[in-house]
Amino acid sequence: MAIAGNMIIGQELVKGSKKAIYAVNPATGEHLQPAYLGGGAQEVDRACVLAEKAFDAYRETDLESRAKFLEQIAANLAANVAAIVERAGLESGLPKARLESELGRTINQLKLFAEEVKAGRWIGVRVDTAMPERTPLPRADLRLRHIPLGPVVVFGASNFPLAFSVAGGDTASAFAAGCPVIVKGHSAHPGTSELVGLAIQAAVKSCDMPEGTFSLLFGSGADIGTALVSDRRVKAVGFTGSRSGGTALMKIAAARPEPIPVYAEMSSINPVYLMPEALMNRADSVATGFVNSLLMGSGQFCTNPGLMIVKEAPGLDAFLSKVAGLVSVAKPSTMLTPGIHEAYELGVAKLKSNNHVQLLAQAQEASGPNQCCACLFATTAEAFLGDPKLRDEVFGSSSLIIRCKTDEEILELTNGLEGQLTATVLMNPTDNKRFTKSLVSILERKVGRILFNGYPTGVEVCPAMVHGGPFPATSDSRTTSVGTEAIWRFLRPVCYQDFPSDLLPEALKDGNSWNVPKLVNGR
Ligand code: NAP
Repeated sequence: MAIAGNMIIGQELVKGSKKAIYAVNPATGEHLQPAYLGGGAQEVDRACVLAEKAFDAYRETDLESRAKFLEQIAANLAANVAAIVERAGLESGLPKARLESELGRTINQLKLFAEEVKAGRWIGVRVDTAMPERTPLPRADLRLRHIPLGPVVVFGASNFPLAFSVAGGDTASAFAAGCPVIVKGHSAHPGTSELVGLAIQAAVKSCDMPEGTFSLLFGSGADIGTALVSDRRVKAVGFTGSRSGGTALMKIAAARPEPIPVYAEMSSINPVYLMPEALMNRADSVATGFVNSLLMGSGQFCTNPGLMIVKEAPGLDAFLSKVAGLVSVAKPSTMLTPGIHEAYELGVAKLKSNNHVQLLAQAQEASGPNQCCACLFATTAEAFLGDPKLRDEVFGSSSLIIRCKTDEEILELTNGLEGQLTATVLMNPTDNKRFTKSLVSILERKVGRILFNGYPTGVEVCPAMVHGGPFPATSDSRTTSVGTEAIWRFLRPVCYQDFPSDLLPEALKDGNSWNVPKLVNGR
């Protein structure tokens, strides 16, 4: 498998005709070959025609065949680890070990969805048998199953070139649900995208799936991204990126003659609450754990702790000195793209120029391009409550400490927060549980995952995970983009009333061969 600057449309390899996109090595600033010519209306149309054509055959694949397809993609990726990791390293500046583990996660995610497909819970079969003798009205025979929505457009994320990109969580869950996928590759890592796309294309062929099950297009978001989301044949969108990008796609999708769901994961500042007894008893370990989480991956994680909320207490200044000390000696690290670096610098500059914000520490300056120098800021609850701009995400290793005078101030501030992916409570058994219960009751309405005595970075891929939350963390708080629950984003229920047995879908037949879990007459 080698890259050649191609888009993938079904089984074809296609060169675009629009402006060339070059990946940039963020560590050196150099352009990487080959050029990726963006696609246009013709390529969008071809990918959508094929995806629509593939839909009916792909959605009715039996559970074993669909699971095998997901496993084959995983196997094809596993056979190309060295090439994928090497190219992803050049395009993202991320270290080899991180990329190897991200690719491992991507492979395991595909296998997990293969298991989910086989288990058949996602079909959600319910059968309410006919009651012809019921009075005053008889009941019809009613059978429900979930079917996939249709072709899905996935936008690859910049910060996870593997686990949230071409074969990442959105693609795996859409494939598992039975949806063909068209990926709009992220312009920061086209070579990585092409390599991964070739692995999927090969699996489509060897597993005898319909040709249009998968396509990968390149081009600018405003151009090809808009065209894809506007296309009538596309029925849902998965996205991870900026708040402005996600909300733009939500507007396009809502303005279509047939609006469609957009599952966008956007912006989150992930508050961490440090309780007084935890501050008093384990200030050193909290300082280390918090700073490690803040610095991980140059802070380019959606769960990066951008906010710490703490009550005034005797040990607070010593704790903040400790945190500031750790931040000030942090090594600079390469950020993913020049654009992300620029946005980080801008966010940090805004905080520095805010009269109500104090710079507690800044890591050493770096000489190379696109370096993240970690920053730690502090402000008061009063200032935070009075300035909505302080709630903006600064994507990178920057965090704002909010010093609160009272518990009431903490609750008021929490009430004013926007939706978040996570919130973390660091507490000791002797901390005030009544207050914590009040806090958790507010947090449940604000976030997708509440952690006790941990740190928000690091998202397990498993059935119980929720990587979601109210806007702007995501565009739809009822879902998750990580874990097997993500499959439900791409399914909808259909009820079959009084169907002749031979016309029923296999999973709904009495004594069916699929043997999937069922709720029969409420049991
Ligand atoms: P982005 O700018 O939102 O881009 C993500 C994808 O969406 C790209 O493919 C982009 O196309 C496309 N896109 C953006 N705006 C669009 C629009 N108006 N219409 C159609 N398509 C559009 O995100 P990014 O490049 O990954 O990073 C930029 C910033 O996003 C970061 O600095 C950070 O603040 C934020 N971010 C947040 C998270 C998070 O998890 N919270 C993750 C990643 C990034 P192009 O190819 O034209 O760029």
